[in-house]
Amino acid sequence: MAPIRFEHSYAALPERFYARIYPERVPAPRLIRVNEALAAQLGLDVDWLTSAEGVAMLSGQSLPDTAEPIAMAYAGHQFGGLSPQLGDGRAHLLGELVDKSGVRFDLHLKGSGRTPFSRRGDGKAALGPVLREYIVSEAFAALGIPGTRTLAATLTGETVMRETVLPGAVLARVAQSHVRVGTFQYFAIRNDAEAVRVLADYVIERHYPELRRAENPYLALLEAIAMRQAGLIAQWMGVGFIHGVMNTDNMQVAGETIDFGPCAFMDRFHPGKVFSSIDEQGRYAWDRQAGMAQWNLTRLAEALLELIDAGQAKAVAAAEDVLRRFGSAYEKQYTRIFSAKLGLAEEGEHAAFIRDTLTAMRDGGVDFTLFFRHLTRLAGGEGDAGPVLQLFQHREQAEAWLQGWDRKRSATESAVRGMRQSNPVYIPRNHRVEQAIVAAHAGDFAPFHALLDVLVRPFEAQVGCAHYELPPEPHEEVPETFCGT
Ligand code: AMP
Ligand code: MG
Repeated sequence: MAPIRFEHSYAALPERFYARIYPERVPAPRLIRVNEALAAQLGLDVDWLTSAEGVAMLSGQSLPDTAEPIAMAYAGHQFGGLSPQLGDGRAHLLGELVDKSGVRFDLHLKGSGRTPFSRRGDGKAALGPVLREYIVSEAFAALGIPGTRTLAATLTGETVMRETVLPGAVLARVAQSHVRVGTFQYFAIRNDAEAVRVLADYVIERHYPELRRAENPYLALLEAIAMRQAGLIAQWMGVGFIHGVMNTDNMQVAGETIDFGPCAFMDRFHPGKVFSSIDEQGRYAWDRQAGMAQWNLTRLAEALLELIDAGQAKAVAAAEDVLRRFGSAYEKQYTRIFSAKLGLAEEGEHAAFIRDTLTAMRDGGVDFTLFFRHLTRLAGGEGDAGPVLQLFQHREQAEAWLQGWDRKRSATESAVRGMRQSNPVYIPRNHRVEQAIVAAHAGDFAPFHALLDVLVRPFEAQVGCAHYELPPEPHEEVPETFCGT
């Protein structure tokens, strides 16, 4: 066995935090792709990872001696309703690795078999959702948006039953941790105050060590988690990303995007855009994401209340203050991001102009990514206004907006640089993700590899890749996504 020395800070917590369980055997594990850059960051040997032994680990077949696989316990509000027991129903945390800069990461397998938390599920993952998570998580990393990473994807050689029969796969996920808002809820709803405290101390130690000395570390923890979420959601908004399943079990406390199940990037801009087939009420629509994050943080605050202050009224007042500050922090980040995207001066009052811009984009049926991309080229003197204007359905409206922008924008070099750094050329367009999955189902992984190779450099125009910039033709459009569970 290769010298992988897993550590186990989470498995050292009390037994009721998890179940010890090994991944399941599968007939014929086969590597689809390994993430060499991430492997290097984690100090893992790529030759070993791609060897039979490495693939055996990445698919959960045979683990290094130092692994101590566990399934973590958690609860969660799913679409507003509380499920008191969820937990890793198809995932195993193998252990932790400390990367070259000293940051501790979980190595976790998803789709690796049944656990005591599987309920009626089969413990498996289908190939499509595994490829989607690989593509979008690595696109996120390249875009500079915090999220869990993908170390590898493997085929299992067996089929899983969803609406149809699909190939099974396992994703090897890397995250700063897998503690979620729902992990706190799991203990709080069981009135296990001791466990809530142990978990809070663990999260402070692992993710927010600077808070150890805070006057009230638990209130400071709530605030720190809220502030990271404020920045994260603002970043999602800035690339037209819709997470799709912002349940409290899918909100991680280190501030990384987690669970790339039914997520997608918008093509044509509409603020109420939803992709997920099960989100019938539009609960997690693009423009509701900050509100939903605040809702989730309120659930976290409830779980932490007793730790924040023994006096309930005092604890509630302090928590409410933090939740309000989440709102203002989010607004500030959102305005900063869209100001940069539009090339506006760093100082100044831009909220109203951003609002008007989004209204014009919506009314004009404008493609979100192309709009900012063409605007960046215009600002950088790489072309005329034609491509921007052509995105709008109504020429007059487009011209009026453009005149307003011309008056408002900062024409400095640093504003143009800011636009280039915040307006990607390539995003994982939903139809391209779907095409990669369809081809993979037919045994052809070339489109998957090609798409990923482009997305790891999202801000640079790449030769021969113009088609990845384009929105779908009507017959290519993929209006809906599925959890794949
Ligand atoms: P997700 O939709 O992936 O966030 O999953 C929500 C909950 O359902 C988690 O507790 C998962 O572990 C569980 N789950 C999802 N899919 C499966 C499956 N195929 N087998 C067992 N549990 C599952
Ligand atoms: Mg989940």
